Amino acid sequence: MSDNCIFCKIVRGEIPARIVHQDEDCVVFHDINPSAPVHLLAIPRHHVVSMQDITAEDGVWLGRMMSNIPKIALDNGCNPGPEGGFRIVANSGNDGGQEVLHLHFHIIGGTRPWKGPLVAAV
Ligand code: AMP
Ligand code: ZN
Repeated sequence: MSDNCIFCKIVRGEIPARIVHQDEDCVVFHDINPSAPVHLLAIPRHHVVSMQDITAEDGVWLGRMMSNIPKIALDNGCNPGPEGGFRIVANSGNDGGQEVLHLHFHIIGGTRPWKGPLVAAV
């Protein structure tokens, strides 16, 4: 945990978030500034800055977390099947465009067009 980290504060319940899922590994909530009809953030409960800090030892909890994402995406409005789907983005470091320094996976989906800044150029 990091005292001043906004996402650690969400994990601790110190600031509000529209949480849609939580388990032993992660918390998933709506992005406050959505780039698409569905825009969730999946974060580990413990403080990890970015994918640059992940090692092979993190594979177990990270694998569990990633394997839960498809169901969470569909349960929260992403369209099913090959005609639907979603995008997962983990901005990492300055060059990656990361603004909040607690690892997070953007889960972006819903019927196009998507207009938000995060998805416009990629
Ligand atoms: P990134 O640029 O990948 O670090 O993205 C950070 C994301 O966190 C942005 O999409 C913000 O809209 C989102 N965000 C920042 N603060 C909050 C918050 N308190 N609750 C929900 N989403 C947030
Ligand atoms: Zn944190």
